[in-house]
Amino acid sequence: MKNGFQRRRALISKRAYRKVYSKATPITTAIIVLLVAIIVTLSVIIAKDAIEDKRLNTETAPSTDGATSAYEQTTAPKEEFDYSVYDTVSLGASDISKGTLVLVNRQNGFAPLSDSVHINLYADKDRHYSVASSDIALDQETYEALGKLTTSFFNETGKEILQITAGFRTKEQQQKYYNDMVSSVEDEDYYELPGYSDHHTGFAFDVKLYLEDGTSLSYGKNAEEHAKWIVDNYHKYGFIMRYPGDKTEHTGIIAEGNHFRYVGIPHSVYMRENSLCLEEYVSYLKHYSVEEPLEIMTGGKVYCVYYTQKLSETTQVYVPKDKMYSVSGNNADGFIVTYSVD
Ligand SMILES: [Zn+2]
Repeated sequence: MKNGFQRRRALISKRAYRKVYSKATPITTAIIVLLVAIIVTLSVIIAKDAIEDKRLNTETAPSTDGATSAYEQTTAPKEEFDYSVYDTVSLGASDISKGTLVLVNRQNGFAPLSDSVHINLYADKDRHYSVASSDIALDQETYEALGKLTTSFFNETGKEILQITAGFRTKEQQQKYYNDMVSSVEDEDYYELPGYSDHHTGFAFDVKLYLEDGTSLSYGKNAEEHAKWIVDNYHKYGFIMRYPGDKTEHTGIIAEGNHFRYVGIPHSVYMRENSLCLEEYVSYLKHYSVEEPLEIMTGGKVYCVYYTQKLSETTQVYVPKDKMYSVSGNNADGFIVTYSVD
């Protein structure tokens, strides 16, 4: 880009050229040289000022935290991260679909694990909930958390009105359920496909309310009235509502107010407090690493949560040496480590 000054200099040079070659005298040549020298000196001074102005602007620009300037932030030495308090565990490709944070939806299929153990709910005679059939089963940890939730519900309210209507489903069972559902509704796009169902994990179950007088009610519509304690407290036991009505764009599933999913503490608490569905949470956790984990405070404890991207063969995942931790695959592209600081 040519500025005014450069244009002026170009004009002078042309004129000078003409003069020099038409009637060049030592005096005119001297004047021209002097003029050029003055102009060059001026331009150097102007340029210097411009640079100085720019530097001043950078230094006085307000920084986001109000404490350090942009210049200082980029040059401040980074504190060394202490990896010596971590071990690494080696995880294989199949580990991606193990753990309570597995994301199962139309983009992320899930084959029920052959070595997974499911607990039959009907066999438990001390439970404070009922089961709709004798073959409903859940993953061990989910089963135990459900026991704690419903026992607390009973202790607080004297009620035993939660009924479990579905739990772990094989691909064949999901196919049957899917066929039944789509034959009775218009839009099959919003039902879980066999091979892509949350029920394959063993961490999910459906409920309804079975009142003392024998009345059966749907949970989603009537929970506020009959099971308010559950509505207010399920997240403290590791549970989330997997398909909230306002998250269909993320989950791909139409509101299912009766479908609980176990993800474990502290995830359930964080998700509820921040209104995140599992799709959103799993994607959100990718911002956190072992060096800069997500900190979650709940139940008087501080938890650290972070993500490690899955590599093609095996993935080395940092885990704390002297603390209890858990690792879960996300069933998509990485692993999530959770540990309690205390
Ligand atoms: Zn369900």
